Amino acid sequence: DELISQIAAGEVVERPASVVRELVDNALDAGASQITVRLLAGGVRLISVEDDGGGIARDEFPMALKRHATSKIASLAELESVGTMGFRGEALAAINSIADCAILSRASGQNHAYLLEGQTGELKPVARAEGTTVEVKELFFSTPARRKFLKTDATELAHCVEAVRRHALARPDVGFAIWHEGRLVEQWRRCGEAGSLPALEQRLADVLGSDFVERSVWVDFSSAATPGRPDYAPVIKVWGRAGTPDAARSRADQQFCYVNGRFVRDKVVSHAARSAYEDVLHGQRQPVYALYIDMDPTRVDVNVHPTKIEVRFRDSRDVHQAVRRAVDQALALPRA
Ligand code: ADP
Ligand code: MG
Repeated sequence: DELISQIAAGEVVERPASVVRELVDNALDAGASQITVRLLAGGVRLISVEDDGGGIARDEFPMALKRHATSKIASLAELESVGTMGFRGEALAAINSIADCAILSRASGQNHAYLLEGQTGELKPVARAEGTTVEVKELFFSTPARRKFLKTDATELAHCVEAVRRHALARPDVGFAIWHEGRLVEQWRRCGEAGSLPALEQRLADVLGSDFVERSVWVDFSSAATPGRPDYAPVIKVWGRAGTPDAARSRADQQFCYVNGRFVRDKVVSHAARSAYEDVLHGQRQPVYALYIDMDPTRVDVNVHPTKIEVRFRDSRDVHQAVRRAVDQALALPRA
């Protein structure tokens, strides 16, 4: 089982940023409103993610580090419509097999916090406010070959920050802070309620800069449901902000796409977005955008890859069309 976990780890964990992504996913699933990430040596020596979420009850502790142990889905049917970021129950087990893990948590309504050390499996009572801290030390300590593939601390740190940035753009209702070697690297304060446009606008400005907001327009589009079709296509909502042509960059480094709140990289979406700029962007210029696609979760498969960064759409033509129309429409409007 240890070996299987290590193999799974190879798929889930490529570098410290992969661990950061999984731990922040878990904190968000736990309902955190503030998440603090602390790193040493670009995350290789230490990744600690602290949250104020619902915590882990004492009797659930032993499960947290077990493979395929998840508290999030009870049946295969639920896998069709996962609403949480995690659902496979393999991230912590995988990470624990290639690093030195510790989980410190106090569940809401409980008087005690507990510390679970991954190496010994020992559970000790400790003091902590409600919430969870997961610490991952010496990543890849037992697999020097993998450790050798890591880049400089500065590069690994940049990847970790990017991982948090992706979450931050999806959740303006949650505050984030990143510390490296005791220094505050980024801080994005909680902006308001989930789903509120002013909160999203504030978060976009905080994370991507006021320049991004000033040189972009709102996207707000809903495809029409077509009940007449034999394969009934439910509504696809596309919203967010799309950069004006003058905001285009030489690299595609400011293209953020979310499907049902999950950051994804998807060719259908990026192609559709790019095609809306066809007539106004020449050469290799890349548009900037933050697009949020909300759709029937049973029409999108998020279980394609362990990192969950890829998705498969059941109706990819409908998604393409919705994104294309959404951006077309936004770019045609007067700047707002
Ligand atoms: P998954 O997220 O797919 O369920 P993980 O391996 O990432 O699997 O986590 C295993 C389990 O540990 C979760 O299902 C959850 O019950 C618990 N857990 C992990 N991190 C946290 C956290 N920050 N707060 C509360 N519970 C957590
Ligand atoms: Mg998880």
